[in-house]
Amino acid sequence: MTIKGLKGFKDILPDEVSLWQMLEQKARSIFHRYGFTEIKVPILEKTELFVRTIGENTDIVEKEMYTFEDRNGASITMRPEGTAPVIRAYIENGLNVRSVVQRLYTIGPMFRHERPQKGRLRQFHQLSVEVLGSNSPKIDAEVMAMAWLLLQEIGLMASLEINSLGCPKCRPSFKDALNSFLEGCQEHICDDCRRRSKTNPLRVLDCKSDNCQKQYTAAPSILDHLCKPCEEHFDEVKQGLAQIDIPFSVNSFMVRGLDYYTRTTFELITGDLGAQSAIGAGGRYDGLVRQLGGPDVPGIGFAMGMERLIMLLQQQDDLDIRPQLDLFVVTMGEAAYEKGFGMLQKLRGAGLKVLMDYEGRSMKKQMKQADKNRARYVLILGDDELAKKEAILKNMASGEQVGVTLADDNEEFAETMRSTIS
Ligand code: ATP
Ligand code: MG
Repeated sequence: MTIKGLKGFKDILPDEVSLWQMLEQKARSIFHRYGFTEIKVPILEKTELFVRTIGENTDIVEKEMYTFEDRNGASITMRPEGTAPVIRAYIENGLNVRSVVQRLYTIGPMFRHERPQKGRLRQFHQLSVEVLGSNSPKIDAEVMAMAWLLLQEIGLMASLEINSLGCPKCRPSFKDALNSFLEGCQEHICDDCRRRSKTNPLRVLDCKSDNCQKQYTAAPSILDHLCKPCEEHFDEVKQGLAQIDIPFSVNSFMVRGLDYYTRTTFELITGDLGAQSAIGAGGRYDGLVRQLGGPDVPGIGFAMGMERLIMLLQQQDDLDIRPQLDLFVVTMGEAAYEKGFGMLQKLRGAGLKVLMDYEGRSMKKQMKQADKNRARYVLILGDDELAKKEAILKNMASGEQVGVTLADDNEEFAETMRSTIS
């Protein structure tokens, strides 16, 4: 009996890994351009951290968390998202004292016990960014623009939908209006929505059922209930986006699946992934740091789902980013084999990506191996040539072959190789 992996947990195999590395490198490069620095936070946290921030009546907390008791009986949760841990770390380490505005990002796995399907896993990965300490609507526009630039640079298209959820001052009046509306459609909505319309009415708008969504097209709009400062803030966010040429549309029904959002929320949607159409989402959470016992600083962030981005990248057929080898050393004969092995370490020390065959394969098979590894050059070493201190260097793209002189000192030879082929 072989042991299989867990359902919804995926191996990322070597063939796919270069795409992941490319995505991660691109993301880092862009985040750094916007002045963000990385923070690495643990995968396990106290359960309470997520319950208090994400909210009790949310899908994540009600149904999706990997929560268990550790050996001391403490309730532990595998992080379902990155914002709460980053804010916990921000408060715990007093990062607010170091700089008024902190721009942080983190990259890593998240865990949600959902029904596994295309684009929906139980362990998935997010690129997650947070800006703490600024109220400015320019920041809202800027983080959306950053997500936009990332998509642009990796060649993906998405549409940006934005909304404002107001603040604790203006939300009650919206909740009242929504409550009256929901009273009128109780028979037509799902059990979850009926229950949540009593406990956390905003959540119903986030329901995944088409039937419920049909009902909610007639729901009141939060945008009609914003207080003056929230309305002005939202206007400035829209102006900011327009100013830097980021196209967007307003979707007043977007509430997002976490309770901590205030004011701006947004989603990046694609038409190319079927049902799992959200590739990234985020928003402002001005009360969250305070709520977790930290200073009264506003925040905004977003997370992008890496699996969904990878799936989109895989749909591009002209994409070939498999890694290349700089050099494959082909050897014929015992002396050449030993000389080749001796060179390898020095060639790698000189910065070259190099392989050779240790399985005694024929010259033809070794050439095939070089091809398979996408080697840019092949160095052909034979016993006879070796005796004359010569070898052949073949450019695999052009097929051109030139003679090279070997040196007794492998390090010296490796330097010559490096300057010849890089
Ligand atoms: P969805 O509406 O698809 O359930 P969500 O609102 O739960 O998404 P967020 O919590 O905002 O998602 O997470 C941000 C991004 O992380 C999503 O836009 C998506 O790309 C990705 N994501 C979320 N859940 C999963 C999952 N189970 N598997 C793969 N990617 C996911
Ligand atoms: Mg979800």
